[in-house]
Amino acid sequence: MTMQHIILPARKKILVYFLYIFISCLFTSGLNIIHAKYMLDVPLTPEAFVVPVFAGLLFGYLLARIKLLQEQMSLVAYTDPLTNIYNRLHFSHFLDSEIDRVKRYGGTFSLIFFDLDQFKGINDEYGHPVGDETLREVANIVQKANRSADIFARYGGEEFIILTPATDISGATVHAERLRKDIAEHRFSEIGNLTCSFGATEYKKDQDDVGALFKRADAALYHAKNKGRNCVELG
Ligand code: GH3
Ligand code: MG
Ligand code: MG
Repeated sequence: MTMQHIILPARKKILVYFLYIFISCLFTSGLNIIHAKYMLDVPLTPEAFVVPVFAGLLFGYLLARIKLLQEQMSLVAYTDPLTNIYNRLHFSHFLDSEIDRVKRYGGTFSLIFFDLDQFKGINDEYGHPVGDETLREVANIVQKANRSADIFARYGGEEFIILTPATDISGATVHAERLRKDIAEHRFSEIGNLTCSFGATEYKKDQDDVGALFKRADAALYHAKNKGRNCVELG
């Protein structure tokens, strides 16, 4: 993920949230004090000031903690822990809304599926931790090359997917080709060289549902593997 779709860093959000609640508590308490003193004619004691300040602090703190927990839970629910990019579940949310957007406002988008070549051999030869590190490195390379609007996710094991908004098949092909080259030319820290195979397809507004779209992208990737790997095929 590019994590660019999470708008404010969690810490900043929590601080803003805390201040908002604290100030709201103080403001409400202030109104109560004014009400007590001038309308009910009740004498003011020091507690009248101290209690609202502490209540505001405590209430603000507790709600900010709840908000922080919510943030952490959604991060866990939507992020792949190994690569730190989106997981398949969150990707499907973006895909659904992109389909809605294109149906309503027109335009198009494309999907790029890619899969590491002969990755099983890397695990067998270098071990699983090196395999994990390789997956992280691939995710980093792709993240750097993606545009900020692209939605990038780990689809499963060693398979990744990119949604490229407002991009037709020729744009998606250029992008996939660039990614293919970036990965193939990268010198991986432990294993040296690695390639990936790519399948790209454009959304067809009038005939596609999610299933048909995925089927085409998957078939294109399958063709790329059959063709000898380290290439981009279109579906
Ligand atoms: P192909 O070029 O046809 O894609 O061959 P491949 O060896 O990449 O494909 P295969 O499906 O046979 O193997 C995928 C391997 O990916 C097997 C599995 O152990 C490995 N894998 C899946 N998830 C992970 C992971 O999270 N970490 C590591 N290290 N390996 C993983
Ligand atoms: Mg593979
Ligand atoms: Mg695979």
